[in-house]
Amino acid sequence: GGKDENATSHVFVIDPQYGWRPAIQEGAPKNGKALVSIPEYKSEDSMDCDGGRAAKKGEQIYISMKDYPFGVLPLANVDVNGNLVEFADMVKLPYLHEAAILYNLKRRHREGKPYTRTGDIIIAVNPFQWLTHLYTEKKRSYYSNRLVWEQTDKDPRDGMEPHVYEVSALAYKGLAFGNVDQSILVSGESGAGKTETVKIAMNHMASVQQGPKSEADADVTQLDPVVDRVVQSNPLLEAFGNAKTLRNDNSSRFGKYLQLQFDNSSAGAVPSYTRSTCKLVGSKCEVYLLEKNRVTQHTEMERTYHVFYQLLAAPDKQKYWPKLAGKRNEDFKYVGKSSTTKIEDMTDEEHYHHTVKVLRMVGVDDNMLKELFVAIAIVLQCGNLVFGAKGGDRDKSEVTTRTEIKDLAELLGVDDAVCELAFTERTMKTRSETYKVPLKTDAAKEAADSFAKEVYGKIFLWVVDQVNSATNAETNYQGGGRDDFGIIGLLDIFGFESFKVNRFEQLCINYANEKLQQKFTEDVFRAVQEEYESEGIELAEITYDDNTDVLDLIEGRGGLLAMLNEECVRPGGNDQDFVQKALMANKTSPCLIVNKTDRMSFGVHHYAGKVMYDADKFVSSNQDTLPTDLEELGKASTNSIVSKTEAADTSGKPKRQKSNIVGQTIWGKYKTQLASLMTNLRTTSSRYIRCIKPNMRKVPVAMEHVPTIEQLRCAGVVAAVTLARSAFPNRLDNQAVKFRYNSMWDKNAYPSKQTNSMTKEQQAKCIAEAILTCALKEKETKNKEGKIVRQFVVGHTK
Ligand code: ADP
Ligand code: MG
Repeated sequence: GGKDENATSHVFVIDPQYGWRPAIQEGAPKNGKALVSIPEYKSEDSMDCDGGRAAKKGEQIYISMKDYPFGVLPLANVDVNGNLVEFADMVKLPYLHEAAILYNLKRRHREGKPYTRTGDIIIAVNPFQWLTHLYTEKKRSYYSNRLVWEQTDKDPRDGMEPHVYEVSALAYKGLAFGNVDQSILVSGESGAGKTETVKIAMNHMASVQQGPKSEADADVTQLDPVVDRVVQSNPLLEAFGNAKTLRNDNSSRFGKYLQLQFDNSSAGAVPSYTRSTCKLVGSKCEVYLLEKNRVTQHTEMERTYHVFYQLLAAPDKQKYWPKLAGKRNEDFKYVGKSSTTKIEDMTDEEHYHHTVKVLRMVGVDDNMLKELFVAIAIVLQCGNLVFGAKGGDRDKSEVTTRTEIKDLAELLGVDDAVCELAFTERTMKTRSETYKVPLKTDAAKEAADSFAKEVYGKIFLWVVDQVNSATNAETNYQGGGRDDFGIIGLLDIFGFESFKVNRFEQLCINYANEKLQQKFTEDVFRAVQEEYESEGIELAEITYDDNTDVLDLIEGRGGLLAMLNEECVRPGGNDQDFVQKALMANKTSPCLIVNKTDRMSFGVHHYAGKVMYDADKFVSSNQDTLPTDLEELGKASTNSIVSKTEAADTSGKPKRQKSNIVGQTIWGKYKTQLASLMTNLRTTSSRYIRCIKPNMRKVPVAMEHVPTIEQLRCAGVVAAVTLARSAFPNRLDNQAVKFRYNSMWDKNAYPSKQTNSMTKEQQAKCIAEAILTCALKEKETKNKEGKIVRQFVVGHTK
């Protein structure tokens, strides 16, 4: 209101196809509508916006203020020519909203600046091209020298371009000089750059712990063997846990929490800024939810785990099982034809040699290498079993590919007949007797698949164990036996997922994201409180959306998890009953969505949006127990990886009774794992890196608006900003107020109370107060609900 009728102003308007776009608003809104002109776009703007209508020069549209209450946002981050001004730290954007964030990121992304700060959060937009000058040893030293080794009272980040190295350096400093464990939480959707970001941070950590370096000799770096092992262990886990997907050629199909261990025993002594006493001495890795389904099936354009292709591409003499000689990918059903034979510029064969090299480096000897590759061959072999009706009886089945079952039995080291029966019969137990039931061909095939998945799961955990035992400082460092290392944890975990069809796996993944979001909100809120405290401003009660309701729905008593677990132990438990019981029990939850037309479907209002789940296979996906026949087959194997039971259970506690399945469901275990992760994280000081995938084509420069906005929302960036700004949306330095608005100040009517004895900061505060009092004559107004709202408050510096 009160605007000049004819004045034009720069605004952003929402466009369903383009997302936000800059425009010019002509005059004040009339009758609830604003007249907006959309200027002609430069070609790169239209290039970035897939599928939108072409912008016509000078096109004018009316935007209904009622339909789009937030449809028009002020675009004040422009210079006198109407060009957007760029901000390395978005907290400094005078107007802060979704559109401003989008355009600021877009501009920087186009200029080859992938990193942008929002307070302490780093937003990393995937450049999809290696900007090598950003990752030199010189750059690493620059960030560590400025942020770790040089002492200063000011925020040392001032004037520095945001970078992952800034996060790693500050984390290192927090540990080395603050003696507080640290964590770096990296999130984003598949292909957004999480894993690369973690690698970048890790390499920096390896460099910074060497101590201050002159930037001139920074390029000669020799990593010591421990650090080398820690850094190298990454590609090894990738060989076993990564696969090519549509979204990412090297997609991690598991979550990972890598704890770097530092010897910080001299911390607490006088901090030394001249030499490093806080040395990287090892690492420990925890993994979450490997996507086991990928072992037995993948779509045509995707691949299964890298290691299968690597083994098949190895020179025949090095395949560890003579019968693999001459075999091609398409000879194995689980692998199949693939047009991709290179991942990140290395052929599958080159990767094979690298994988073997690293396996040896972490202490896997010839013997164990053989065990490992035979175990992989066992998985491959399971896929080639074909089942047919036994003697024409459709209720029974047998393996029709005789050589394949012989080969599998040979690899397992068991008798052919025993092996075949394990897949084609199921042992049933009642209180009084044990008897066998034959399986139909479908069920037999399913049994072979679940066996393959189970074996691969064991292989993966075995590799993780090998890496841990080679790198864990608790057992390796100077005699071992210590467990009091300083920790910097790096979390690389799947982001929020919402597909056309969402399954059990998506619910698990989204549950993890809710847990992390909860901590994120707490941290952001704490940061806001701290800012207000340091400015000496009382923080009026602010409310913000937290996600306790969703978490209650998922993990609370009678929540989705509890109902699913119940259904998993109930004889005859099934997916549809789970849905109906879950809906009944959570009728009052504001976050549960009922689907009246489909009894197998339900929805959840997640913090990042609504997701509809298809309950098909929820019960079976949640059950972690193999049928006893298959379990026995595994135990009978002469292969030590396959015969190993409960790889993860090293606690030495007695195993739970078999009947108590609740403790053994996938989700039950996962919940415990996550809870311990969260407890762990809460003892650390956390920093956040939010990765954004700017376009789905994986090409440089382009930024598609709609998906980018979507990701910013999912990452909680917009919410964080909203929270940070909910009391006072806009903030300016007192110095800037003095400089910009001096001419508006009637010094006679509103004199400043500054005196010469004051510091510069105090003087600026007094002048800002006088200017604002003059410009905004009323200190308080009433809002629509009649609540009193402060127009402005002057803090120590803002
Ligand atoms: P995520 O782990 O989130 O699924 P990745 O870290 O595997 O994603 O990254 C996907 C791809 O994006 C990488 O293979 C690489 O091509 C590209 N990429 C990611 N980060 C960067 C970066 N900082 N610079 C250049 N390219 C990158
Ligand atoms: Mg990844």
